[in-house]
Amino acid sequence: MEFIDEQYTVITNNSLVVSEKFGSADVYGQNAKSILNKATGFIKAYDFTLNPYRGCQYGCTYCYAAAFSPNEKMQNDWGKWVLIKENAVEVLEKELIKWQKRNSDKLPSIYMSSVTDPYQPIESKTQLTRRLLEVMLEYKPILVIQTRSPMITRDIDILQRFKNLRINMSIPTGSESVRKDFEPQTPSIRARLNAMKKFKTKINDLTGYLPKLSITITPLLPTLLEEQESFIRELNFVDRVVIQNFHASHKRSLIASTRDTAIDMKKKYEWWYNNEVKSYQLFKNKLIKIMRNVEIKEGQAGFTYE
Ligand code: SF4
Repeated sequence: MEFIDEQYTVITNNSLVVSEKFGSADVYGQNAKSILNKATGFIKAYDFTLNPYRGCQYGCTYCYAAAFSPNEKMQNDWGKWVLIKENAVEVLEKELIKWQKRNSDKLPSIYMSSVTDPYQPIESKTQLTRRLLEVMLEYKPILVIQTRSPMITRDIDILQRFKNLRINMSIPTGSESVRKDFEPQTPSIRARLNAMKKFKTKINDLTGYLPKLSITITPLLPTLLEEQESFIRELNFVDRVVIQNFHASHKRSLIASTRDTAIDMKKKYEWWYNNEVKSYQLFKNKLIKIMRNVEIKEGQAGFTYE
């Protein structure tokens, strides 16, 4: 998740009833009126965003999507619930058929996902994202998948059949201790890097199309000084690295909706945040110095498909 652009009128909080527990998370199920939503804001270059779920079990401290929870309790409980859009596969099929009729000479461009993680833990059970991929394949979309989950490698068999695919793996810090502070419920940095490397080792010209691979260091969280260079060296196998300030470019609107837990956590990292502009610049300089044949992009420019 990186951007606010979901049409939150799609699902209301009427009659939300917990249907099951998955781990410690409450799981809700509901039908959505639409699954392809017009992309706006940071990712307006895409035709659509696609969010198979609402809510996210990863519960990152800085996730502003929490502000758009169905009610205040769920906002406070961000990370402890997920809503499955149960009819998503059927709705997607209908919407793509409709779109294709109107745009026979153009491939749809889709950003999955903008306000949830399509490979959060519940996906291991529902396989909803996988089923949506199967539907999308037929329409040959330009597809960007944003996740922080190694579970994406489960779907290599399908993903390698997409000709126009970019995978954005979110790794906001190179330090495990920092990750555990800001996003304690997420997979380790090592697991995410290994997942991305797997695409390179498993896909070749004979098996399918190798996707474009990005690491999105967004928001750029602190990485311990002694770990910065080794972390950056580890990224040298991808096509693109994206950095972005801690919501700074969005000014008041997003700071207002960033969770207090992230604001509090920033205090622990005063050595970084007391001079955030300089910390950002020093990290960026190291990227430029160490990266070889890797695009380095900042902010919005990093989230394009091309
Ligand atoms: S992975 Fe983290 S940032 Fe992305 S939607 Fe989930 S809680 Fe928010």
